[in-house]
Amino acid sequence: SSIRELYDQRSTPAVSLEFFPPKTEIGKRNLLERMGRMSAMDPLFVTVTWGAGGTTAEKTLELATLAENSLNLNVCIHLTCTNMSRGIIDEALEACKKIGIRNILALRGDPPIGEDWNDMESELNEFKYAIDLVRYIKQNYGDYFCVGVAAYPEGHHEGELDSNDHEPHKDLPFLKQKIEAGADFVITQLFYDVEKFLKFEELFRREVSDSIPLFPGLMPINSYSLFHRAAKLSHASIPQHISERFSPEIQADDHAVKAVGVEILIEIINEIYQRTSGRIKVFHFYTLNLEKATAQIVTGCPLLSHILEEDQDDDSLIDNEDVI
Ligand code: FAD
Repeated sequence: SSIRELYDQRSTPAVSLEFFPPKTEIGKRNLLERMGRMSAMDPLFVTVTWGAGGTTAEKTLELATLAENSLNLNVCIHLTCTNMSRGIIDEALEACKKIGIRNILALRGDPPIGEDWNDMESELNEFKYAIDLVRYIKQNYGDYFCVGVAAYPEGHHEGELDSNDHEPHKDLPFLKQKIEAGADFVITQLFYDVEKFLKFEELFRREVSDSIPLFPGLMPINSYSLFHRAAKLSHASIPQHISERFSPEIQADDHAVKAVGVEILIEIINEIYQRTSGRIKVFHFYTLNLEKATAQIVTGCPLLSHILEEDQDDDSLIDNEDVI
């Protein structure tokens, strides 16, 4: 089903989950089992990532097909458009239609490091920004696809990791254009600073749309080094009151890091829900294909625990945590 329809039908808080296609057969089998168990969280939808330039096209479509048809999940496929020929995009869209997938997250993607659009062959240059893909999908498929777009509560950074001169309001006119071109929902980059997200949400509601679903992107904390690496790569700032909770003793103890991480994520979810008066009610998890932390957050969060109440066998959700 389309995410807009599902969203309108769901009145209680919910989650959505992001996965990436594993490289190996064993990885794929493990992930499918894990996704099967995680379906007990009754996610509003699950998304499957796409390698920029189409590098994972086959594996993304394969995982998406299994999730949609064998696991009966509502799938949203990520699709990037820069540095990709129109042929790959057409093939992906046709495949989705054939499978019965109704949701596409339309992204620009990043050009290969060190390359510039201007240097690309013209065949790979047709889609410059995500809006070009939104328009293309809407023109060719009308309302068949429910199209999502990305947003950045702390601003979108191009290039250098350390530049801090980006502000969310600079991207806002472009986000608005993506919505005007027909985008139906928005998923944000991960963040840990609730104040920054809330400011962005207010700006978005005031200047872009007061009704389009906006899904905040949350990455559970699986290890201390991964937490810092992911935050840095995504340009997500870590507020001092959060970094202070990881004393050197906690940093050295993986279990303690995870436990503090679960507490932090639960607090973030509660705060967002309360302070938006429930306007934000679906929380998008960047799972990194891992199950434990997300399951513990859902189980421990009073807003979300109803999801699992009918399924008392919660332990099954947190076993078998092998890295894929
Ligand atoms: P756009 O909306 O096109 O924006 C890109 C930049 O250009 C922004 O700085 C914007 O302000 C600017 N801009 C937009 N329009 C114009 C214009 N008309 N004139 C001038 N400037 C303009 N990447 C992957 O490769 N695979 C994935 O599966 C993937 N999934 C993601 C999921 C989410 C939820 C998010 C937030 C990101 C994801 N990404 C993924 C990363 C994404 O591809 C990059 O962040 C990329 O750099 C920007 O993509 P976009 O769709 O936001 O681009």
